[in-house]
Amino acid sequence: MKLAMIGFGQAGGKIVDRFLDYDDRTNSGIVRAAVAVNSAKADLIGLDNIPKENRVLIGQARVKGHGVGADNELGAEIAEEDIDEVQNAIDQIPTHEVDAFLVVSGMGGGTGSGGAPVLAKHLKRIYTIPVYGLGVLPGTDEGGIYTLNAARSFQTFVREVDNLMVFDNDSWRQTGESVEGGYDQINEEIVRRFGILFGAGEVGEGEEVAESVVDSSEIINTLSGGGVSTVGFASEDVELNSGGGLLSRFTGDGGGDDNLDAANTTNRITSLVRKAALGRLTLPCEIEGTERALLVLAGPSEYLNRKGIERGRKWLEEETGSMEVRGGDYPREEPEVAAAILLSGVTNVPRIKRLQQVAIEAQENIDDIQQESEDNLEELVEDDEDELEPLF
Ligand code: GDP
Repeated sequence: MKLAMIGFGQAGGKIVDRFLDYDDRTNSGIVRAAVAVNSAKADLIGLDNIPKENRVLIGQARVKGHGVGADNELGAEIAEEDIDEVQNAIDQIPTHEVDAFLVVSGMGGGTGSGGAPVLAKHLKRIYTIPVYGLGVLPGTDEGGIYTLNAARSFQTFVREVDNLMVFDNDSWRQTGESVEGGYDQINEEIVRRFGILFGAGEVGEGEEVAESVVDSSEIINTLSGGGVSTVGFASEDVELNSGGGLLSRFTGDGGGDDNLDAANTTNRITSLVRKAALGRLTLPCEIEGTERALLVLAGPSEYLNRKGIERGRKWLEEETGSMEVRGGDYPREEPEVAAAILLSGVTNVPRIKRLQQVAIEAQENIDDIQQESEDNLEELVEDDEDELEPLF
């Protein structure tokens, strides 16, 4: 699937930058164009791979290149004011070669938190291809204002995109490690998961065509219907067959060893599917009740078989209760077999309910503190008996 990616804010820009690097390393061909939008000049300069002409600085009149702090209302305002500048960069993209837009942002900050939903709304008005969001939730230790920003951005972003895929920084923090220190690793985990999902079906010339191909229309169908998505992932290292990898594709009905190989391959796939669905998801949630799912099995073709994928798919249908579970393979010459599962339309997500609760508390605290400091200031400035008159 070919995407036009737009990273909004610092996290968004860094993640899209990383997608370009992933594309380069794996030849997956998913990033047809990459744009970064920010109100902080330094963040744009810090990017490595996004072409300089695709880096758009917005809000110069208001914040002079210094960013919006964590003020996401200001982030939304300047995105609206400068939407033409963002559109100018998008005009350079050959959108007829693109299957969908992907707007990426951290939802806890200011620029991306406020700006990404504004951009999504704008894109949906102009283009007919789907507009997806990839939104990052802040760690719970980042504090009340980040949680409040994320809760408000989440609500708005879901409404404006065709589907919001969510990644929760909180559940990816290593114990004893600050989220900040681990961003590099976290971003790699993000691009790996979404890279495999979106890379399926993008088979380059001369590469093997998958036995049961996942193409972009299946990804689009899985994401259609809107709502919130999460991704599960599991992988196992395998040895690459130096002979070129047509070995076990033809096994199954042959001699004893071949049967054993086929059974191993099937078992490996089914256990990877279970691990991916029951392990750590990008957004932790109950998978039962998922509306639609897509299973992608990536790896050297001799380690993929239809039986394994079919079993994994059936198992997923039972676990999720969904009647719409798609599946297919994605042959690639990497020394691992990986299962990536897109669970679309999840609704039982306690993490979001907790986030909203904390956000409401933070909002009340902020209102109380503001009221209190207004009262305190008045008490300081005014004399007790109201005997003094201001000059004017
Ligand atoms: P903005 O530039 O004002 O949009 O704000 P940021 O993108 O810097 O930060 C928003 C939130 O994104 C933070 O609260 C973090 O939770 C998260 N964040 C910042 N940088 C990264 C990153 O590189 N990777 C990930 N996964 N999250 C990040």
